[in-house]
Amino acid sequence: MSDLYPEFVYFDLDDTLLDHKKAEQNGLADVHQHFVDFEEIPLAKLIDTYHHINKGLWEEYGRGEIDRHILHRRRFEETFIELGINPDLYVEAGKVYMNYYRNHWEWVKGARQVYENIADKFPVGIITNGFAETQWMKINQFGFKETTRQIVISEEVGVMKPHPKIFDYATKLADVKREKILYVGDSYTSDVQGGKAANWMVAWFTSNPEPEQAKLPDLAFDDFEVLLSSLKL
Ligand SMILES: [Mg+2]
Repeated sequence: MSDLYPEFVYFDLDDTLLDHKKAEQNGLADVHQHFVDFEEIPLAKLIDTYHHINKGLWEEYGRGEIDRHILHRRRFEETFIELGINPDLYVEAGKVYMNYYRNHWEWVKGARQVYENIADKFPVGIITNGFAETQWMKINQFGFKETTRQIVISEEVGVMKPHPKIFDYATKLADVKREKILYVGDSYTSDVQGGKAANWMVAWFTSNPEPEQAKLPDLAFDDFEVLLSSLKL
């Protein structure tokens, strides 16, 4: 394991600092409970169908083919159609989901203490691909405004990671040489490939990396204590 000497540390938000996947699963479980129409449909089927449809819609969104309003509408409308449930319920489903999803936000295990420790020693920031409205709610709820120097949200920049524009923009905000920036994130394509293409250092939060992919980041870790101990002032 090599030592890292960053002068600025950016973090990804979803599934790096905050457990988005768990909140999403719990939010969908709540949607499943909320509508009687789901009585005959197992929760796992709802989760699978939603994931599949949501993933395709995010790809369309990433290519600029649809906006977030259309994404928010279609992810439940199309899930309901595929499951044979009245698609007119999509408006209510979207609202129910968002209310529940918000209540399930929590830190990734072990991330909070290490994040706070790093934020004490280094200037830190956040770069996230989420929607501004949702991500600002998380940022406010978890006090990131108080501990970060910079917050970069894809919707506000106009492109998503791994687009170089978002990394160049974040580099300017950090106001240090790009080689001195460390990015901590969980996504191979968005965070590892995007960060390395920008000439940053990258620490990849992953539990089971492909050996070939694990060669690209400066560090691959599944325990935040490992990240902390590899950072040197
Ligand atoms: Mg992430």
